[in-house]
Amino acid sequence: MKKKILLIATGGTIASKRLEDGLTPLISSKELLQYVPGVEQFCTVDAIQILNIDSTNLQPEYWLDIVEAIKTHYCDYDGFVICHGTDTMAYTAAALSYLIQNSAKPIIITGAQKPIDLDVTDARTNLYDSLLYACHPSAHRVCLVFDGQVIAGTRARKVRSKSYNAFESINYPPLATIHDGRVIQYIHDSNFTSYPAFYETIRPSVFLLKLVPGISPDILSVIAQQYDAIIIESYGVGGIPSDSKRDFLSEIDRLVNMGKIIVMTTQVMHEGSDMNVYAVGHVAKERYGLIESFDMTTEATVTKLMWILGQTDNPQTIKSMFYTTINCDILFQE
Ligand code: ASP
Repeated sequence: MKKKILLIATGGTIASKRLEDGLTPLISSKELLQYVPGVEQFCTVDAIQILNIDSTNLQPEYWLDIVEAIKTHYCDYDGFVICHGTDTMAYTAAALSYLIQNSAKPIIITGAQKPIDLDVTDARTNLYDSLLYACHPSAHRVCLVFDGQVIAGTRARKVRSKSYNAFESINYPPLATIHDGRVIQYIHDSNFTSYPAFYETIRPSVFLLKLVPGISPDILSVIAQQYDAIIIESYGVGGIPSDSKRDFLSEIDRLVNMGKIIVMTTQVMHEGSDMNVYAVGHVAKERYGLIESFDMTTEATVTKLMWILGQTDNPQTIKSMFYTTINCDILFQE
């Protein structure tokens, strides 16, 4: 029996046409399908369009629209392929990993660096591969398919702005590769529940602050006026500047006492944080009970916090939910 797949289009370069002002998403979900003849040999595909945007305009609320579309159709299809702009695709892949947990059916996000209607493009291969992988017996959960790589939804990062190999799996191996219509599955999953956990609330009150030498600690109280959680993207394995010229520790103390959630992560793409290594990290973490993202990507850290804040206000619950591994997002812990 051929598998039934639902294609959900949201826009992005894959669906763009060249206009005077630049690339603009205009190609519909049904038109996208016309560029991948041959998929009817292994699946039947229905197509819906829930957005047609450049993903620069993506808003957290749109993730809930995608979740609703998948929830509504979950029992009618064997898998889902979402076409999406590449610029915020890693955020959407991570967000959906938290909003739709433990899905036995694959939920695949893909896109392209070039529009699908060009003669030379990665779009047709990426869409074909995504539909092929959606039919594979080892395909489950939320993942991203791009340039022959299958990446867990919480582990993707856009690392190239122009080349076809735009995404990398960070601190975790790719789940599978796809070449010339063949899937090689490296990581096999089991233990999926028959119906996933769908979540319909998020709180996007999360700010990401990148440290640079000379940054003023006063910025923290300005951010705290509008946001409930602040992720501090620190240096190396992680530390908080405490030099007398610009001391962050007293501001952090104030924010923690106000009930703000502070999470430490690193600007370094590979290998993650470990705040216990240096005194500048250890002292701050111990004294203020900061959360640490360890080997998680920044995209996963941001969206996991938005999902958690949508479920609870309790600092202890926030911490324990943050450290619970979801879709392979965090492995390294103390
Ligand atoms: N600006 C585009 C987008 O994210 C880039 C792409 O799709 O590759 O929608």
